This record gives sequence, C-alpha cells and structure tokens, in this order.
Amino acid sequence: MTTARSVAVFCGASLGRDPAWAEAARALGTGLAARGHTLVYGGGKVGLMGEVANAAAAAGGRVVGVIPEFLRRAEHAHTGIAVLEVTQSMHTRKQRMFDLADVFVSFAGGLGTLDETFEILTWRQLGMHEKPIVVCDIAGSGQALMGAIEAAIEMGFAKAELREMVTIVRSVSDLLDWLG
Ligand code: AMP
Repeated sequence: MTTARSVAVFCGASLGRDPAWAEAARALGTGLAARGHTLVYGGGKVGLMGEVANAAAAAGGRVVGVIPEFLRRAEHAHTGIAVLEVTQSMHTRKQRMFDLADVFVSFAGGLGTLDETFEILTWRQLGMHEKPIVVCDIAGSGQALMGAIEAAIEMGFAKAELREMVTIVRSVSDLLDWLG
C-alpha cells in the first residue's frame, strides 16, 4: 500500500549538461503524482525545478512551491501549481520546505542544491530531526555530495554514522520504490 508523502525535492535551477537529468526529473514528477505524493520544491519554472514541477502538475499531482520574494522573477515563479508560498528570505524558504516535507530528496543540481541538502543533513546530524534524506546518484549527480561526506569522515570531522543518515539511490524507479 502506498502512503502519500510530502516529498521535498532539491534540484537545480539549471538543466545541467547531461539530458539524463531533465529526463529523470520528468520521470520523478510523473511518478510522484502517480503515487499520490505531494511535491514540495523551490517554486521556480526554470531548470530541473521546472521539469519536475511541470511533470508532476501535468500528471495531476499536488505541487507546493516555496520561493523567496527576491527570486520570484529570476527563477520565474511557477503560476500553474496548487500552492506557491512566497517567503521573505532564503532562510525562511528552507525552514518552510523543512516544515512541509516528510522526506527530502537531493536530486541533480548545483551549489544551491548542495546547500539545501547539507543544511538538512547537518540538522539531522545534530539530532534536530529524523526525517529521511535520499540522495539520487543519477549519471554521477550525487558524486560531489557523497565525496564531501566521505572526505569529512576520512578526515575525522564527521562520524561514520553520517553515512547511515543518507539513502543513496541510482535511478528514479529505485527512488519511487523506496518512497512507496
Ligand atoms: P542550484 O542547485 O544552484 O541551481 O540551486 C537550486 C535552488 O537552490 C535554487 O532555487 C536556488 O535559489 C536555491 N539556492 C541557491 N543558493 C541557495 C542557498 N544559499 N540557500 C538555499 N537555497 C539556495
């Protein structure tokens, strides 16, 4: 039985070089909608964010965007989704996405995606929450993040248990199966 979840997806405001990521983002949006999960994301229409949100909305899924006021224009705030929350700052955006989500998915993206993922991960490391964090390593998209985690453990700046705080998946279908 599928339990509907509220899934925050952190992903790029760009498409990236490999078309595999846009394709995977669309499959993720469609798959979340088909399983009745709510997509919580950064609220933009551009890049991988736009791909996942458009696919989820087109498949009849519930999509909640959270965007800071100053990025409404730059990231083309989405107007075709169920809810668009506008926050005062990046910090309140991250807090709001945290509050709304039951589970976090770190998808392909750049520094913003890494930042959002690391914040959620460091909060988990500090015992501030126990919400699951899934890292997608699709066409190498998770390598930078996993490399940083491994380096921190290797250098003695993080405990080995940090590894157990992230679930790594290598395809959208594995991610959807994991979500249930
Ligand atoms: P990127 O992965 O760099 O394309 O960014 C993806 C999303 O993360 C975009 O919506 C950015 O607005 C957002 N973002 C960028 N920098 C930060 C930051 N320092 N904190 C939170 N979100 C950010």
